[in-house]
Amino acid sequence: MENTPNQLLENAHAEIARACKAGRRSPDQVTLIAVSKTHPVERITPLIDAGQRVFGENRVQEAQGKWPALLEQYPDIALHAIGQLQSNKADEAVALFDCIHALDRSSLVKALGKAMDKAGKQVPCFIQVNIGAEEQKGGCMPADLPALITGARDADIPIAGLMCLPPASIEPAPFFAHLAKLADDNGVTGLSMGMSGDYPVAVQLGATHVRVGTALFGMRS
Ligand SMILES: *Cc1c(COP(=O)(O)O)cnc(C)c1O
Repeated sequence: MENTPNQLLENAHAEIARACKAGRRSPDQVTLIAVSKTHPVERITPLIDAGQRVFGENRVQEAQGKWPALLEQYPDIALHAIGQLQSNKADEAVALFDCIHALDRSSLVKALGKAMDKAGKQVPCFIQVNIGAEEQKGGCMPADLPALITGARDADIPIAGLMCLPPASIEPAPFFAHLAKLADDNGVTGLSMGMSGDYPVAVQLGATHVRVGTALFGMRS
């Protein structure tokens, strides 16, 4: 029998609680972001009914189609932008999202700073770090992080913390630990790390935000 949205959500909270215990942390320090990308509104509302209030989308245009009506109906929902963001979408992203997870370059700092000024809305941003130094991946190189943080502060962008997507198919724990160390070294607190396959490990190593799609919604078609 297929699990109900309620059960899947309970499972995720139980996993987070277990990982918190192992890492001597409080579950209050961890925000579960339900990543609803590609899933239609009919799949999202059961999770809202089950009590979930934080959601993540990776495309501005898709989110604009799905979320404004839901947000009007449920004003206590927080919507996070988790994917790579083009600078020309900065105004739209600032208008729609409560948090942005992939601030990864100075041109985007400039665009988001300007968009927030214009909108009179400060949206907290995680700075994405290319923690595996992979060529094809977004995120700033660890060495460029201090300059990017300074740039974001100068642009009055609230810094939520650091975010990463570790390389696929290898043990993620060392990368999570490295991101936690970088956050410490740079005086920022939030850590957006961990997805369906590895969020318990990420929580044990200090994640404050886990981005979980498949484990809550099933496979994306
Ligand atoms: C899709 C996505 C996720 C969720 O992935 P799952 O493996 O389905 O949990 C998390 N973070 C980012 C940046 C994503 O694009």
